[in-house]
Amino acid sequence: MKCQRCGSEPFERFRGGMYCRECFAVKYEGAVESAVRRYRMIGENERVLAAVSGGKDSVAMLSVLEKLKKRFRFEFSSLFIDLGIGDYTRNSKRIVEDICKKLDIELHVVRLCDYGFTIDDVSGKTCSVCGNVKRYIMNRFARENGFDSVATGHCAEDILSNFLKNLYSGNIQWSEKQRPRLDGYDRMVTKIRPLYEMGERENILYVLSRGLPFVEDECPHAPSTIWKEMVYDIERRIPGFKISVLRNLARERREDSAEYRYCRICGEITSSDICQFCRNVARFSRNQ
Ligand SMILES: [Zn+2]
Ligand SMILES: [Zn+2]
Repeated sequence: MKCQRCGSEPFERFRGGMYCRECFAVKYEGAVESAVRRYRMIGENERVLAAVSGGKDSVAMLSVLEKLKKRFRFEFSSLFIDLGIGDYTRNSKRIVEDICKKLDIELHVVRLCDYGFTIDDVSGKTCSVCGNVKRYIMNRFARENGFDSVATGHCAEDILSNFLKNLYSGNIQWSEKQRPRLDGYDRMVTKIRPLYEMGERENILYVLSRGLPFVEDECPHAPSTIWKEMVYDIERRIPGFKISVLRNLARERREDSAEYRYCRICGEITSSDICQFCRNVARFSRNQ
């Protein structure tokens, strides 16, 4: 079987068709472009900050954004958060620096240790602390440096497994957050997910087709994969489940104006007196 677009040596299937490396990359980029259009993710002249960990998803996102920036006329730079997870962080940082150099993308680095602790200091619920830290730093860095939105490499399975997990835990209001674009308000910067409709397998194949390096080892604190396995299981039984739920989640809904306050310590938005990030700093900080 040959590439159905140009007749060259085949590489992989993409949504039913067989393609060579180059045509696979072009088809993939086209699919991300349609999603960016469909959900009006990026406005003209916007300044986008792409959060990158060095994993396959965020590398795929960087490469596609670089391809799309001329067509959609936006500017973008990337942000790497140094979480201080030993060799894993050092290795990831080196790979991200390589890619940004190769693609000629400006890279910013923020170190969690400058706030007084690292993820290695965290005992117990490491992943939820890590998630909180990343959301906090992305938002604050983007706002303080004049970016209009933060792009993250969440793929279809990330969104759907988060949705199931939140449903299970009773955080129904969190399903509101599983959308391709969340408009900013007050001190919260707009969040966008360019890979909203892309599967993680498609992301890895795309990164390979473009010959880009990525972090292959898992974070030593990686969370359970059970919810993701569930997503694959449902898709196997109900083909089309993923895309159907994603599009339902993306629909415009009337939003309840949730109550929020400002953190007494840092002034960021929170639902209580002191934000979760500042509570983490107080709890895990080394200098006390
Ligand atoms: Zn081809
Ligand atoms: Zn705070």
